[in-house]
Amino acid sequence: MPSSEWCLVPKGQAEVKEQGMVASALGVRRKMMMMSPQKPPAALWQPIKIFACSQLTSLVRRATLKESQRTPKYEKVHNFKVHTFRGPHWCEYCANFMWGLIAQGVKCADCGLNVHKQCSRVVPDDCKPDLKHVKKVFSCDLTTLVKAHDAQRPMVVDMCIREIEERGLKSEGLYRISGFSELIEDVKLAFDRDGEKADISVNTYEDINVITGALKLYFRDLPIPLITYDAYPRFLEAASESLNRTPITAFSLRVNVLISSMCSIISELTDADERLEALHEALKLLPPAHCETLRYLMAHLKKVTQNEKDNLMNAENLGIVFGPTLMRAPDLDAMTALNDVRYQRQLVELLIRNEDVLF
Ligand SMILES: [Zn+2]
Ligand SMILES: [Zn+2]
Repeated sequence: MPSSEWCLVPKGQAEVKEQGMVASALGVRRKMMMMSPQKPPAALWQPIKIFACSQLTSLVRRATLKESQRTPKYEKVHNFKVHTFRGPHWCEYCANFMWGLIAQGVKCADCGLNVHKQCSRVVPDDCKPDLKHVKKVFSCDLTTLVKAHDAQRPMVVDMCIREIEERGLKSEGLYRISGFSELIEDVKLAFDRDGEKADISVNTYEDINVITGALKLYFRDLPIPLITYDAYPRFLEAASESLNRTPITAFSLRVNVLISSMCSIISELTDADERLEALHEALKLLPPAHCETLRYLMAHLKKVTQNEKDNLMNAENLGIVFGPTLMRAPDLDAMTALNDVRYQRQLVELLIRNEDVLF
């Protein structure tokens, strides 16, 4: 388990939320009191205010504590689709009747919640997907899958990585060499059919490259990539900064003036710091389930590089393999997308190398 000096999304979000809730609740209260013509005397108001404030804070804290005791706590939006209900139906949000003969309301495709279309806009993001609605494993939204299975990460990722670490770390060309595509497709079907009971043991799939192939396919098939479309520009920015600065450093070294070399060493150090800072900020943009899966994968890839003398795979090679697997440009033209590929490789390489400090 890598150290987590930097607290990532879940805890931070909870704190900000808590502060926000207290502040807004108190803010509204104070304003209302100030506007009121019959303002109670300060001597009377002050103790009430202090008491109310302490009660409210402890209430909020208790609620947050209760919330955080349940693991994992990943927020998920509902996946509402217009629905025609047969027979009378009542909205599960406002409890009122859903009128009409067709398209009376919307239904969440992941948890089955039925609400009015107008109510769907105010329903909190507390979707708890149900296995009876979530049928597939591959091509299923990552957060939906982990919530449906009440897991930390998708079982495909956990099971494949466990299998690879047990019998594949020293296999030459791990992740670079691909297994038979029919067999990889077979693994995918097994996961879709049997979930965590899928058999991917050495008796069924002797070739470890089939398992690495299935894991790569899982990431490629995600409807929202592991590095989400929203976070993609920030990640690429962090990676491209480091690439663009390289020529300047190379040039100053070539000039071979003592001072400039010293400057370049110093600037390289600060560049590295800034880059990690930028990457750390970018990681905060990922949904918690995506971030946790990325952390787990990078820790695994680091182990792969530690066996480089047997498997001949270093962070650079793995960057080439995983760059386009873990992220896709959000609708860019072919030329820009092609140009992005080198930054994608660089990004994965950076994540592997700095896995221990970033997560
Ligand atoms: Zn839902
Ligand atoms: Zn309603």
